[in-house]
Amino acid sequence: MHTYPDVKLFINGEWRDAIAGETIEVTDPATDEVIGKIAHARHADLDLALEAADKGFKIWRDTAPFDRSKMMRKAADLLRERADSIAFMMTREQGKPLAQSKMEIMGAADTIDWFAEEARRTYGQIIPARFSGVNQMTIKLPVGPVAAFTPWNFPINQIVRKLSAAVATGCSIIVKAPEETPASPAELIRAFADAGVPAGVIGLVYGIPSEVSEYLIPHPVIRKISFTGSTPIGKHLASLAGKHMKRATMELGGHAPVLIFNDADLDKAIEVTAMSKFRNAGQVCVAPTRFLIQDGVADKFMEGFVKAAEALKVGNGMDAGITMGPLANERRIPAMEALIQDAVSSGAELKTGGKRIGNKGNFFEPTVLANVPTSAKIMNDEPFGPIAIVNRFSTYEEAITEANRLPFGLASYAFTGSVKTAHALGREVEAGMLTINHNGLALPEVPFGGVKDSGYGTEGGSEAVAAYLETKYVSQMN
Ligand code: NAD
Repeated sequence: MHTYPDVKLFINGEWRDAIAGETIEVTDPATDEVIGKIAHARHADLDLALEAADKGFKIWRDTAPFDRSKMMRKAADLLRERADSIAFMMTREQGKPLAQSKMEIMGAADTIDWFAEEARRTYGQIIPARFSGVNQMTIKLPVGPVAAFTPWNFPINQIVRKLSAAVATGCSIIVKAPEETPASPAELIRAFADAGVPAGVIGLVYGIPSEVSEYLIPHPVIRKISFTGSTPIGKHLASLAGKHMKRATMELGGHAPVLIFNDADLDKAIEVTAMSKFRNAGQVCVAPTRFLIQDGVADKFMEGFVKAAEALKVGNGMDAGITMGPLANERRIPAMEALIQDAVSSGAELKTGGKRIGNKGNFFEPTVLANVPTSAKIMNDEPFGPIAIVNRFSTYEEAITEANRLPFGLASYAFTGSVKTAHALGREVEAGMLTINHNGLALPEVPFGGVKDSGYGTEGGSEAVAAYLETKYVSQMN
């Protein structure tokens, strides 16, 4: 029988309570029940975490990449072995169906493996010298202790990309994990600790997000920050990082356009986008949001998509057969209601859904809005929930103009049978990621990141490793 644990801070290789003994409650979003508590770090705890990260960095940067890689692979295997009990914790704290929790954990293990391989390939260069007797080279060195801030929608996956890149490259890292969903991330850290990663290399804290970030980012020990969350908070943290000359990776909000052309395979488009839209109750930064459907297939798409939305089984993610769980936070319910109300009063048509389900747990109906005017709030703000906007277009130019209208540029989707259209979209959609005729996003080996207000830097692929390395130039005369 699985149980939900109380969660401690992990500092200098030890699981410990906060010095002041403060705690924060954890609530099950499906039942509103308090299921546990976490240790609440204050400045005195953060000082210990910083001291440990400084010490851990000095040990880890001198540990051979080969050995780091071996420990990471072990951590990945431990995560796989423990996936069932961790999935239980994740579903209880976050709400997503058990199968989705398990998938997230198995995906995280693959991410660790991928970065473990990259750890051994942080090559420098030999640069031909213009004077005889001179050797010129670049070497790659870890940037130093990292502070990472991650959200509650993917409790493990939002951490694992930052953690794996840092650990692979020889950095130490303090993770400020999400207070709403704390136990599954703690198990991720436990897997690394059990795999032999030395004390101080990884720290785990919880607290008041602004209090933690405002203390860690300016601190001289921290050399890099990585944040995943909303654009306004990202801008605030990026400015703090800039003020203190810290390197930063920012993975922020999106408002993904989905362009479906007359020549698309419509059944496939409906199947892929309905799955991507309502996975994790739509609380996904790369979730499809603004569906733009060409006139010739718009009615047929709407019919199929609404049917797919209505076929979802909403309920407690612990129960068999559930395909959509509750929203992770109670505060997201009024946010959904306000967006829908504003859209409808601006002239949008509510095709299905639109309401909270019951009054216990944060359940919300899968919702489809049609013909939403550009002036509606939801056409401009990330809904971050189970709401799809389905509008029409006539020409390619119209579709591209609408796709690129917003300041966001994270994920984008397109469905077309034309190679020419696909090729043009690849160049013209302003987004960090474009996936055509399938959902090919978020694999460990491919870039994951945005442009414009969606942030900068990437959290997948070889460039994700580069973000944790300094290039040092060394010139040596014999
Ligand atoms: P929020 O803006 O209050 O928080 C978003 C995340 O940032 C949370 O994890 C929070 O703990 C963290 N955060 C907030 N202030 C911080 C600070 N000063 N320093 C460090 N971390 C801080 O919003 P919310 O109600 O939790 O979520 C709503 C919005 O957040 C969504 O609409 C969505 O745009 C965004 N969000 C994005 C992602 C993502 O994957 N990009 C994930 C979760 C939330």
